[in-house]
Amino acid sequence: MSAASLPNPARLVMTVQGPVPHEQLGITDAHNHIWIAPLPGIAEASPVLNQYDLILKELVEYRARGGESLLDCQPGGSGRDGCKLLDLSRATGVNIIACTGFHLKKYYSPEHWPWFASTRKVFESLCSDLEQGLAETLDSANSIKAGFIKIALEASWSDCDQAAMEGAALAAAKTGALVEIHTEKGALAEKACIYFADHGVPPSQLVLCHMDKRPEFSLHKALTGMDVLLEYDTFYRAKYKPELKLWPLIEQMVSAGLSNRVALATDMAGAALYHLIGGGPGLASLPGEIKEKLTARGIPEIDRQQMLGGNIARRLAGII
Ligand SMILES: [Zn+2]
Repeated sequence: MSAASLPNPARLVMTVQGPVPHEQLGITDAHNHIWIAPLPGIAEASPVLNQYDLILKELVEYRARGGESLLDCQPGGSGRDGCKLLDLSRATGVNIIACTGFHLKKYYSPEHWPWFASTRKVFESLCSDLEQGLAETLDSANSIKAGFIKIALEASWSDCDQAAMEGAALAAAKTGALVEIHTEKGALAEKACIYFADHGVPPSQLVLCHMDKRPEFSLHKALTGMDVLLEYDTFYRAKYKPELKLWPLIEQMVSAGLSNRVALATDMAGAALYHLIGGGPGLASLPGEIKEKLTARGIPEIDRQQMLGGNIARRLAGII
């Protein structure tokens, strides 16, 4: 076998407590929010998650139900606090994987946005978070590195900040980091794959988020044909009718042999979704109720295991 045909060796996954082999991540929520500090100057309706003791208890519940890891999707400047993520991970034993990148423009104060004006600035900032440490932790005793890039697409391509997009693509190409892409209800999914491929980032390095808000099986099948990973998370969002849309979509993907291209998550970007804070389903719902429901619907263990963590863990390690 020539060197060129050898599969890529797996990287270690960078958690806030340091590198971990991907096989050890276990049940992993592929897209969640554990800490969102309030930011001055942004819309009052923007989510805040900063009740430390209650969040800690929810993580303990998550662990007790069998959840072992989760990806925190709040990038720097939009409320991320790497030091809090580290404290929560140490106190609960849950592997937390922090991100760098950028969120929707509405989640930033107007003063912050010029940060995105230069492709080079964005590129350097993202690479620094991934390779040196999260900006807010550089002066602390602990070096906490980002484990992936999260970016957000606005509803239309022309509203996406092109310098930020390009900076993120260049950082992904340089570092090999996985890119989770927030889509507005699945919009621009195809375009994002082409854009990143044009910048040297293959679809296998991308996770398209919230794709169950656009539950067209033929589209999902076509996207998985490019090896992109699709993230579904409307289990507790009644307006998207999960019983009618999400659950049949999961069953279709499993029946078509595509469970290796799906990652499940709960995306609890707001206190209302937390069990102890807002009376919502809570972090433990993924290893709890959702896993039980997958089993009750007859989805085989291998498919459950892939969708509940195996797939996202391999992608974080740079393997398909
Ligand atoms: Zn999110």
